[in-house]
Amino acid sequence: MQQIGHYLSGRKIPGTGATAPVYNPATGEVSGQVAMGGAAEVDAAVAAATAAWPAWAATPPLRRARVMFNFKQLLEANTKKLAAIITAEHGKVLSDAEGEIQRGLEVVEFACGIPHLLKGEYTEAVATGIDAWSLRQPLGVVAGITPFNFPCMVPLWMIPVALATGNCFILKPSEKDPSAALLMAELLTEAGLPPGVFAVVQGGRDAVESILGHEGIHAISFVGSTPIAELVYRTGTASGKRVQALGGAKNHLVVMPDADLDQAVDALMGSAYGSAGERCMAVSVAVAVGDVGDKLIEKLAPRVRALKVGPGTDKDAEMGPLVTLEHRNKVSGYVDQGEKEGAKLVVDGRGLSLQGYEQGFFIGGTLFDNVTPDMTIYKDEIFGPVLGVVRTKDLGGAVDLINAHRFGNGTALFTADGGAARAFANAIKIGMVGINVPIPVPAAFHSFGGWKASMFGDHHMHGPEGVRFYTRYKAVTQRWPASIRAGAEFTMPQIGR
Ligand code: NAD
Repeated sequence: MQQIGHYLSGRKIPGTGATAPVYNPATGEVSGQVAMGGAAEVDAAVAAATAAWPAWAATPPLRRARVMFNFKQLLEANTKKLAAIITAEHGKVLSDAEGEIQRGLEVVEFACGIPHLLKGEYTEAVATGIDAWSLRQPLGVVAGITPFNFPCMVPLWMIPVALATGNCFILKPSEKDPSAALLMAELLTEAGLPPGVFAVVQGGRDAVESILGHEGIHAISFVGSTPIAELVYRTGTASGKRVQALGGAKNHLVVMPDADLDQAVDALMGSAYGSAGERCMAVSVAVAVGDVGDKLIEKLAPRVRALKVGPGTDKDAEMGPLVTLEHRNKVSGYVDQGEKEGAKLVVDGRGLSLQGYEQGFFIGGTLFDNVTPDMTIYKDEIFGPVLGVVRTKDLGGAVDLINAHRFGNGTALFTADGGAARAFANAIKIGMVGINVPIPVPAAFHSFGGWKASMFGDHHMHGPEGVRFYTRYKAVTQRWPASIRAGAEFTMPQIGR
């Protein structure tokens, strides 16, 4: 049985107290025990990071960027190994695991350009003989708390930007798939990151509470479910920390009558059932506008029935198992609930059993028609391979529906009408919008984040917003030579004199 510990001061440290089981979701077997850290481990990580921070903050950005360059190369060289670790603990298919590493790598590439992003602005002569400039400086020790569904990509939304801007970073990964974080920690050390600048503290609630209560931690980046995101945001900001907390989602894909229906169906299949629906940008509602509903169901149903479900290591599988038995049962409970509330169950994925993997946490693709906004399966995030079709009369009805939902992460519109697309992108109260693009995850040099109950805080992640989040703005006004004396001035300094 594999024992999964922490990573402190540049090396792996075994856990001491309680542990939690880590599963192979395809077989249902326990594959390891992860240490459940708490105050002692968080204290140790903060102490090491606090000691390492002055030298790291003083390291020229160019040299910090070179560590990121090395890290990028090591991630590329270790992609297969990292993907295998992700699939073993999360369950997603290997090609999808490689895809998430690639999206994370893009943030490392972005961070390689950090000297350019930290340049600041300069004004010569804000007043006679006086020049001024602004700069951004690191915050100090910051922490990241991440969810199970992207054990590599989500930490990489944070780590490269936080480190390259000169912060020390403590990662608290999900206890459900904790091993990818340890390999990334080793690669960072190999890339030349000084000991103490990066740490991994494994655990769950206790570790998070210790992070929230620690005076030595100056900022927290959180990604996970909405209740915990809100809790982390409120508790963290109440104690003076800077917090960005990304939460859950319910993403709608609107299909207009003029859309290329086959293209829309392909988009729905990948975005609703890829990674078994365990993506914060997964589409879980298809909004059929006008008369498109029946045609959409007719094309979708056979595709959903034909989905290839299998262990993530099966090269032909399109979708793997869910992460835990508990989560699988929760998702199938939602399917029960949808039936009870009167939605039409077109394809039922419950009760799927795969030969040789009878104990795996599988559920098949599920499709509901005639879903209405009052139903639980419409209101809640299910986080499984369950797609519901809602019908609206026109585009305005679709916009009103989406804007009334409490979540606001992503949305997409499939149409051939540029004017409709423009009006939609403008009116929709959602953080990330796709036009004929089903999962509009922004590129690393833009920023990722939702609106409403999908995000608490002011700054989205990675890209320019990430740089702003992990740095403090400073403005310097300077006059030379020192021998010029103006005497004491008691009025407000006036620019331009
Ligand atoms: P989760 O909220 O259960 O866990 C997230 C993190 O919080 C984990 O590290 C976990 O250990 C910790 N945690 C869990 N319960 C806690 C508690 N009571 N107190 C303190 N900490 C606690 O989320 P999850 O199930 O791991 O991930 C799935 C969720 O994450 C979904 O809701 C999904 O939409 C969301 N998500 C959002 C985004 C986004 O960008 N908005 C991205 C990925 C995932």
